[in-house]
Amino acid sequence: MNHSVDPEYSSVNQKSNKDFLSIDLLSDLSIDLLSQLKEGGFLSLKDVIIEGPLELSTRCGISMDDSNFIYNQTITFLEDIGVIDMRFTPATTLYDKRKRIGRISTGSQNFNKLLGGGIETNAITEVYGEFGTGKTQLCHTACVMVQLSYSQGGLDGGALYIDTENTFRPERIETISKARHQNPKQILDNIVVARAYSSSHQELILSESSRIIESQNIKLLIFDSAISLYRSEFLGLSSLSLRQQRLNKLIHSIMRIAQTHQIAVLLTNQVQSSPETGFANLSFKAAGGNIFAHSSTYRIYLRKSNRNRIARMVDSPNHPESETVFSIGESGITDPQKE
Ligand code: ATP
Ligand code: MG
Repeated sequence: MNHSVDPEYSSVNQKSNKDFLSIDLLSDLSIDLLSQLKEGGFLSLKDVIIEGPLELSTRCGISMDDSNFIYNQTITFLEDIGVIDMRFTPATTLYDKRKRIGRISTGSQNFNKLLGGGIETNAITEVYGEFGTGKTQLCHTACVMVQLSYSQGGLDGGALYIDTENTFRPERIETISKARHQNPKQILDNIVVARAYSSSHQELILSESSRIIESQNIKLLIFDSAISLYRSEFLGLSSLSLRQQRLNKLIHSIMRIAQTHQIAVLLTNQVQSSPETGFANLSFKAAGGNIFAHSSTYRIYLRKSNRNRIARMVDSPNHPESETVFSIGESGITDPQKE
């Protein structure tokens, strides 16, 4: 049963999409196996990669051996056609590719510089901070910026906004668009919003997101916020390990979606106080424990500083720890006004 996908985004739409790679392309599989995959909901090769062999086996009722075989066949096929990197790739090729990687402007030059040019595709950018520090404003601004042309800091694509806190506001998109001289109607038309009501609903939405990403030319996937539903549902120490297991699965699915569809993922996270450094130095840590800490590609801590905000790069495989100042205005995230 399919509850959260609008019929407008039906499989008929995907099949006419140039990025749709049908499972039928696996020519070595028997007709019976192919129909089992389809019955399990695996229509696209990218679904196989994103869901992984265990899910493939469970949902399609096939042995793990068959499932691993299909998974490896799929990887090899996608390598051959250049959708994913070859399993042995010279570092120089990767370096050349990284120079051309897509980035979405945040709306602030300072913030972009902190990120090495903007919010990166094929990666997870996590922003965390206290209430009112600009996490949701960044998400709204990025929804507009991703739609601009490459020369204006966008990727000429749409946004999929998974809203777990009921804070997505189309009116805000309208003001940001107008302040940036964009047509608000056109911008709103290219944002798909999914309101998640529970952690399992959020997982269902994520598992159905591939078809939207392909059919709607989505280049930015947003989770605002990624783990609040898990925090509110899994209370107490006894449920901690189950919560971490579910979060682990979630974050790895998100990463596979980012890499397989070559899109940017922006997720917001809450903070929890960390009294480790003593009461006088009470600091804040991102919620979610080690699982999120290790899985996000870039982690950015936001805090208030009078009328402005400070963004600090806390963890990155290729940036030093550093910080910058930005502001929130009519046009969303911007550079601070010169005094
Ligand atoms: P939470 O943890 O509660 O979700 P958040 O980090 O998502 O918080 P945001 O909603 O992004 O917080 O930011 C709220 C801030 O954005 C407020 O300080 C508010 O004044 C500012 N803000 C909201 N709309 C506008 C606007 N139209 N113009 C200028 N500033 C705005
Ligand atoms: Mg918010």
